[in-house]
Amino acid sequence: MMKLPILEPKFVFTPDATSSEVFHSFTKGMCPQCRQLCDGVRLIREGKVFMRKQCPTHGQSEVLISGDSAWFLRSLTYITTGSIPLKHSTKVDAGCPNDCGLCADHEQHSCLPIIEITNHCNLECPICIVQNKNNYNMTLDEFRATVDGLVEKEGTLEAMNLSGGEPTLHPDFLRMLDIAVARKEISRVSISTNGLRCATDEDFCKELAARNVYVSLQLDALSNPSLRVLRGGGDHQKMKMRALDNLEKHGVRTTIVSTVAKGVNDDQIGECVKLLYERDFILSLMFQPASYTGYGGAHFAKHDPMNTLTIPDVVRCMEEQTDGLLSKSDFLPLPCSHPSCFGLTYLLRDEAAGAKKFTPFPRFIDLETYLEILANRGTIRTDESFEAAVRKAIDDMWTSAGSIPDSDKILHQLKRAITVMYPPDHALELQERMRIGEGLVKTIFIHAFMDEHTFEIDRIKKCCTHYAMPDGKLMPGCAYNMFYRHKDPRYAADMGKAQIWGRNDLVKLGAKSDSSGH
Ligand code: SF4
Ligand code: SF4
Ligand code: SF4
Repeated sequence: MMKLPILEPKFVFTPDATSSEVFHSFTKGMCPQCRQLCDGVRLIREGKVFMRKQCPTHGQSEVLISGDSAWFLRSLTYITTGSIPLKHSTKVDAGCPNDCGLCADHEQHSCLPIIEITNHCNLECPICIVQNKNNYNMTLDEFRATVDGLVEKEGTLEAMNLSGGEPTLHPDFLRMLDIAVARKEISRVSISTNGLRCATDEDFCKELAARNVYVSLQLDALSNPSLRVLRGGGDHQKMKMRALDNLEKHGVRTTIVSTVAKGVNDDQIGECVKLLYERDFILSLMFQPASYTGYGGAHFAKHDPMNTLTIPDVVRCMEEQTDGLLSKSDFLPLPCSHPSCFGLTYLLRDEAAGAKKFTPFPRFIDLETYLEILANRGTIRTDESFEAAVRKAIDDMWTSAGSIPDSDKILHQLKRAITVMYPPDHALELQERMRIGEGLVKTIFIHAFMDEHTFEIDRIKKCCTHYAMPDGKLMPGCAYNMFYRHKDPRYAADMGKAQIWGRNDLVKLGAKSDSSGH
C-alpha cells in the first residue's frame, strides 16, 4: 500500500518562512544525491515557486519549479478529469512509481505514445538525457507487438511517435513506418530525429512524404555556437538548414523541437517562433526547457537548479523576443497532463495577411470553449467538438463586435475554417479534414520534462506522454526516465560500436566552418 507523506513540523516552519516565503503545499520529490523519494514542500518566494525537500540521509535541497508564482497558481485551476485507457497492464501494488505499466491509479491515457526503436545514434549530444549504448535495434516482431499493445489500450490513436537514439538509423526503419501507417487506428505517425539523414539524403525525405509521416526535427537554435554547446562539434547550423530545406521541398509536415538551456540559447527563442511563422510546412514548435538528467544531461555544463528555465520563463522570453506577437495571456497549461508539464497556445492563420500573421486563440475565444478544444489532447481536434467551438466563437464575435482587435479578419478566418473543414454538402475523411486544419492552425508547446531536482510524484500520475514497450506496458515518460530506463533489459548488453553514418558529413562541414570563424 502507498505510504502517505509524513512531514516533521520543524521542516515546514523553517527560519525563512518567518520572513518572506509562503508555504503552498506538500509534495513528494526526489533527493538529487541518492535519487530516493523524499517529502517536500512547495514555497512561494519573491514571485517564484520553489520545492524544498528533506532527504533523511542527505538533508535539505531546494529547486526552482516555477519562475512565475501567478502562472503557477493560475495553472492549478485548469486541472481536468483524465481519460483512462481501455485496459491497464499492471496492478496497483507497491505504490507509485513502482507499478508503472499503466496501473489503475494512473490518471491519463496516452496522448502521445513514443516507441524507442533503437539506441544507436550518430550524435553524442552533451545535453542528451539517454545513454545511447548502440546495442539495440527493435525487431519487426517487437515493433508489431508494441503497436498492437498500444491499439489494445487506446482503441484509436491521434498520434504515435518513433524515437531513439536516432530512429532513422534503424536498418528496418522504412518497413516500420509501413507497418505503422497501415494501421487505420493511428491518425498520425511521427518521427523524432536530429535531422542528419534528412539533410544528407533527399530520397529519404521523399520516402517520408510518400508515407505522410510527420517529422519532429531537433533544432534548438539557429546559430552554431549555441548548437555546439548542446549538440557537440560540427556545423549543425548548416546541417539543420539543409534538413529544413529538404523537408520543405518534399512537403514533409514538420515540428521544430527546441531544447532550451538558460544562458545557452534562451536568447534565440524568438528566432524559433519567427521560423514557425515564416515557413508553411512547419506546423508547430515545441520548446523543452533543458532537464538536467540522464547520461549527458546530468553532467551538462554547470547548472544551478535554483536558476533554470521553467514554462513561464519560456513564455516571458517569447513575449520579450517576438515584438509583441505573443504575450503571457496567450498561453495556458495543457489540461490533459499535470499543469506543470505543458504550456501551449494555438495560432489562427490570417490568410489575407499571408503566411506570417497569426492570432493566438485566447484573444478571440472564451476560456471555457478553449479548454474544451484542448481537453485530453495535444493536437488540434478536428471532430464535431471543434466545429461547435468554432461556431460558438463566431457567434460570440458577432455579439462582441468591435471589442476584439481585428475581429473582422478573425471572423472571416473562422467562417472559412468552418466552410473548408466541414463542407455542408459532403463529409470529409478525418485525414483530409486534419490536413486542412493544419493549414489554418499552428501550435506552440512548452514541455517541461523533469530531472532529479524537479521530480514530483503527482506529475507522473497524470503523465500523457508514454513510452510504449514490446511487452504491452506503457511507461509514463519521466517515471521511465527516472526509475526504469537504467534497468530496461533491452539495453542490458555491453556497449556497442557507434554508427558514424552521417556524422562524417557533420564533422566535414564543421571543419570548414571552424576555419571560417564560426
Ligand atoms: S506513474 Fe502512473 S502507472 Fe506508474 S505507478 Fe504511478 S500511477 Fe501507476
Ligand atoms: S541526437 Fe538525440 S538521441 Fe542522439 S545524442 Fe542527441 S539527444 Fe541523444
Ligand atoms: S513526460 Fe514528464 S513532463 Fe511530460 S507529461 Fe509526462 S510527467 Fe509530465
